[in-house]
Amino acid sequence: MTKITVAKGDGIGPEIMDAVLDILKHAEARIEIDEVKIGKNVYLAGNTTGISKEAWNSIRSNKVFLKAPITTPQGGGYKSLNVTLRKTLGLYSNVRPCKSYAPFVATKHPQTDVVIVRENEEDLYAGIEHQQTDEVVQCLKLISRPGCEKIIRYAFEYARMYDRKKVSCFVKDNIMKQTDGLFQQVFKEISAEYPDIETESMIIDIAAARLADTPEIFDVIVTSNLYGDVISDIAAQISGSVGLAGSSNIGEKCAMFEAIHGSAPTIAGQNIANPSGLLQAAVMMLNHIGQQDVAEKIKNAWACTIEDGIHTADIYKEGISKKLVGTAEFGQAVIERLGKQPQQLKPVVYKRGVKMNLPTYKRRKAAEKVLRGVDVFVDWRGENVEDLAKSLQKLNNGIELTMITNRGVKVWPNGFDETFCTDHWRCRFEDKVGQTVPQSTIPAIFNKAVDEKIDIVKSENLYEFDGKKGYSLGQGQ
Ligand code: NAD
Repeated sequence: MTKITVAKGDGIGPEIMDAVLDILKHAEARIEIDEVKIGKNVYLAGNTTGISKEAWNSIRSNKVFLKAPITTPQGGGYKSLNVTLRKTLGLYSNVRPCKSYAPFVATKHPQTDVVIVRENEEDLYAGIEHQQTDEVVQCLKLISRPGCEKIIRYAFEYARMYDRKKVSCFVKDNIMKQTDGLFQQVFKEISAEYPDIETESMIIDIAAARLADTPEIFDVIVTSNLYGDVISDIAAQISGSVGLAGSSNIGEKCAMFEAIHGSAPTIAGQNIANPSGLLQAAVMMLNHIGQQDVAEKIKNAWACTIEDGIHTADIYKEGISKKLVGTAEFGQAVIERLGKQPQQLKPVVYKRGVKMNLPTYKRRKAAEKVLRGVDVFVDWRGENVEDLAKSLQKLNNGIELTMITNRGVKVWPNGFDETFCTDHWRCRFEDKVGQTVPQSTIPAIFNKAVDEKIDIVKSENLYEFDGKKGYSLGQGQ
């Protein structure tokens, strides 16, 4: 028996969870259920995370969480419960299989069978945002080596476990050479450990276009948080219905399983929601806890139900479907088919006794880090950049002003009149002959700036790591 935490959530959550739990019971899943309350009522009771202390204790002790969708109340400063759960529990991997069930579920892409493995904790979702000047706000895109290694290894291990042939990496490393460059570099390193799996790297824009047009060319896709968020919705939508897909959120210690859709408040309480997304999540959970026999039994019974044309309203189509059913009736139809194999859809067979090889991250020997200068960001509302350069040159103290950019484009020296400038200037000070810069130089620049009434809003040190520049050049430099 495996003890799992279950939350019925809000909106359609309770009705789809009841249908799923009923199926799990009849399929003889070896689970014991610990129900907790999360979501709207917890928020409204004054808990800004939407999760009570008891719920945290249960999730942390059971380590497996089957969660129905919840409603985040509008306004009131409530934090996203999903983001809180993912990040607090270290659920670094979001796995979303998207498959078409043609000809039984209408889709323009009958061959879709793709799994998106999305990094779940970092990237622009670190949520570190600041307004720095009147005109400019920023959001930090944080990509870490451990983050990349963990998610990319997970994608390859997933591919091996589920007999997938190819892993595609989606990045934008032609533009973001440091952040996406690191993701791509780690993909190259880790793919070398999996010679049995085909690999490819694609630029996210054309990759997303191909995914929307010819999803059948992809197998497993691994990508960072924001790109993964966008493309996993594309993939789910083109495969048939958002009501059909489930996802898992996997960490080193805990795992959470849920449908990809929300709490659909407009159809709540009417027994019309499709419980399939949450059921797919429950199948992923059963695989995770080593109950492949039960996972197969449920998935195949579900496929029989879909094949038999017994459909909920979201996928019901005249000419394709045979019988329109409600949430509970759909669940009953799956229960009646437990033990049966689908005739046209391919029955699933899950591997037994195989574990993913996911070693704990080991920190490498640190590279030699040398300070070469500093970028200071200045709030300045003047017109002529030469004036700014002149006042900044007063800050030269062993390192010199070498470049000014505005929104990344070089505007000094030798800028173009045509370049539009905001009030946010990146001003680079470097040692011209490439000497190591003493750390004390940086606060000295700040102190001098105060005297000169130059408004520095932030700075970034310029480092080399093992002789390689750890910063980008200005566009046009
Ligand atoms: P939604 O996914 O709830 O609904 C989008 C559309 O899909 C609606 O037309 C809905 O009726 C339909 N739909 C969704 N699930 C369905 C199902 N199982 N069967 C049939 N039709 C289904 O998205 P939304 O309307 O943007 O969000 C509603 C609420 O859900 C919001 O409060 C949002 O914050 C929350 N939400 C929660 C989660 C989560 O808990 N994981 C995820 C997304 C949204």
